[in-house]
Amino acid sequence: MSNGRFNMKILLQFPEGLKREALAYAKKYEKEGHEVFIASASCFGACDLALEEAKAVGAKKIVHFGHSIFIRKKLPIEVEYVECESDFDIEVLKRSLTALSGFKNIAIATTIQYSHKIPEIKKFFEQNGKRVFIGKGSLAFYPGQVLGCDATAVTQFRKEVDTVIFIGDGLFHPLAMDVDTPAFVIYPRNGDTKQINKEIDTLRKKRKGALLAAVDANSFGILVSTKFGQSHLKIARWAKKQIQKRGKYAAILIANEFEPFSLNNFMSFDCYVNTACPRMSDDLEKFGKPMLGVDLFGELLKILDELSNKTNNGSKH
Ligand code: SF4
Repeated sequence: MSNGRFNMKILLQFPEGLKREALAYAKKYEKEGHEVFIASASCFGACDLALEEAKAVGAKKIVHFGHSIFIRKKLPIEVEYVECESDFDIEVLKRSLTALSGFKNIAIATTIQYSHKIPEIKKFFEQNGKRVFIGKGSLAFYPGQVLGCDATAVTQFRKEVDTVIFIGDGLFHPLAMDVDTPAFVIYPRNGDTKQINKEIDTLRKKRKGALLAAVDANSFGILVSTKFGQSHLKIARWAKKQIQKRGKYAAILIANEFEPFSLNNFMSFDCYVNTACPRMSDDLEKFGKPMLGVDLFGELLKILDELSNKTNNGSKH
């Protein structure tokens, strides 16, 4: 419907890797008669919709590129997801067969841009003698799709498979596959195949180190993001109560995005509890303080309670 001079006010939002396409899309929507705005801030996932920007310019719709639906709750504005598929020659997977020769039962995963290739990938491995497992993640939208915060598409097959395989680029997504079985990445550009269990182990050690360091913490900053798909105030309030119950101090800190510099200027917190994007906790070095995701925070509470029980029992003798 026409709205005066323009058809509709639209806000376009791109993840970093697709920002170079922004101008071409802006021109396309302008040609159709829309008034177009482009969200400029970093966008890390479909959890991170530019709702504030849309409100500020009075946009009627966000066109969000490069991700699939993530937020299942009702949104205050219409959001159209444009998924942006990438293609690759399925024959490149032949190069992975030597590395995978000892494995029969395999779980496969990929990111949104290659999700449409899953049936073809499955067929390829089946024709090469593998039994292929493809699952639907708990947060991810498509079968076989993994997110940085959801690799249940493969981890649900822990007992059935002897290896998990991620087909895609980079290490951010495959490192969500926290498994004990051998784990591989196949790069779709050329079929290069890399085992990543060392990297998974490094991440586990880092998380364990943060947990141990947090045992002695007395004051906790609980991080709550205002990003619509990452905002967990209820969990933060619960965490605060748990900390207070154990005689320690906790404050809830709110931001759209947490920057190490501005966070560390508080100089008051021995540890952060992260209720926002769980993968932020992997950037421990940047924050200079232990940072626990919600799962690890649960483990911390158990450790603190065990220590307190030991002390109480000791003092009874
Ligand atoms: S919460 Fe983090 S890992 Fe999950 S989709 Fe958002 S940015 Fe990605």
